[in-house]
Amino acid sequence: MARSRQRSTDRAPEAGPTLPVALSAALVPLLGPDVDALEHALTRPAPVSIRTNPFKGFAPTVRRVPWCSNGHYLEQRPAFTFDPLLHAGAYYVQEASSMLLEPFLRASGLLHRDLLALDLCAAPGGKSTQLRSLITPGSLLVSNEVDRKRALVLQENCWKWGVPNTMIARSSVEDFRHLPAYFDLIVLDAPCSGAGMFRKDPFARQQWSEALVQQCATTQRGIVEAAWTALAPGGVLIYSTCTWDPAENEAQLLPLVTAGAEQMDPKLDPAWGVQRTEHLGLIAHRCYPHRVEGEGFCMAMLRKPGELSARTPSPLLNGGIPVPHGITSGTEQYVTTLDGERYTVDAAWRLICGELQHRLHLLSPGTPVQGMKGGKPYPHAALATSSLLDRSVFPALSLSEEQAIAYLRGGVLPAQGAQGPALVTYRDLGLGWVHGAGNRWNNRWPDAWRIRAQQPLAPRVSWSEHSTAS
Ligand code: SAM
Repeated sequence: MARSRQRSTDRAPEAGPTLPVALSAALVPLLGPDVDALEHALTRPAPVSIRTNPFKGFAPTVRRVPWCSNGHYLEQRPAFTFDPLLHAGAYYVQEASSMLLEPFLRASGLLHRDLLALDLCAAPGGKSTQLRSLITPGSLLVSNEVDRKRALVLQENCWKWGVPNTMIARSSVEDFRHLPAYFDLIVLDAPCSGAGMFRKDPFARQQWSEALVQQCATTQRGIVEAAWTALAPGGVLIYSTCTWDPAENEAQLLPLVTAGAEQMDPKLDPAWGVQRTEHLGLIAHRCYPHRVEGEGFCMAMLRKPGELSARTPSPLLNGGIPVPHGITSGTEQYVTTLDGERYTVDAAWRLICGELQHRLHLLSPGTPVQGMKGGKPYPHAALATSSLLDRSVFPALSLSEEQAIAYLRGGVLPAQGAQGPALVTYRDLGLGWVHGAGNRWNNRWPDAWRIRAQQPLAPRVSWSEHSTAS
């Protein structure tokens, strides 16, 4: 089974795996005698890093990841699950090398315009939340994950991140072949054999084999072909894996270059330690744990021949479904429904939204803002953490850390004469909803998101020493 980089954010891995002989041999042409240094680095603990959400104002004054404007290293791995700020979408726990997406996006030359962007293999959401932080707020991001369970985790993470104009899809890559020349930007973080994750994830070391590399290469070929079909002329494909093997990197992109794709070569600061390689004639950038403070990673970028055409916004709406109560936005919103719930996207994307509802298996055709229970509307969980929320409309209950953790476990809050929906906040960030029932506030935090662990497995987060957040 290909690696999908899923592990608990709280569990500290044991350091010390060694490289399989076949992998060492494959790395010699890329690294020469440095293979020993790599092997030594794998015996050291993996760094811990987070990326903060620029829309939520959480700014810890901890050491920066040099290539990512919102990336930070932590000295140790705390019990992230017990931090309400994580659940409010104030930050995302992400391995630092993966954050290399930022300089690639900046070098793509696309960040100044509203884009139709696709993250094709997106769970659990590291690249999607980073993309959402860097593309314009008016861009539409389709975040896709084929695996059902992982797609739900992706959805939870994107909802908590809270940036509008994000759709969550659970389509097979084949579905994207039916959207030819469609997306301006595609991020393809492919399932891979995971050699770069040996230090963080002992299972990656156990399952690695040359046969797995070949199996992954075959899978990647199909995914790359579908992505290239779905990319608009002049559009950009950013391809990455958490492995270094050329069979899973260069060999996947070479046919596209042979067919005319333009190679893009972001100029990275040499001080970062990222290795620029030109192997088999293809430019890629590799992170090795003995050179960068992060795990193994490889990224390359291609532009499709042609000119990217300007997008024509959908004509303004006349009528349609009224925008539900409690939404604020500087742009006209288009409201659509799925299974009785109401979702919004910028009205400029209305026609695209309608088309994607037909072509893809969408879990969320936008930001869910209103659910329905017993024929009565209620504010959706995702609205609490969304920047679309109009906070002036709902009463708010500000929770302490202990109260917030009790809430995230599903507890009720005491009240007097409580009625209707109220927003619960933590450090002034929207977290979730409660519903008044006289002498108590009933909990509306989704069951599937509850904290289930009895005790933190590591020390609790203490941002007060570092944080400038209120
Ligand atoms: N981009 C994600 C992030 O930054 O959080 C990590 C993506 S992970 C490396 C690769 C994803 O591809 C996994 O979530 C996995 O379920 C998905 N995947 C696995 N096999 C696939 C296939 N045949 N087609 C499409 N996606 C696949």
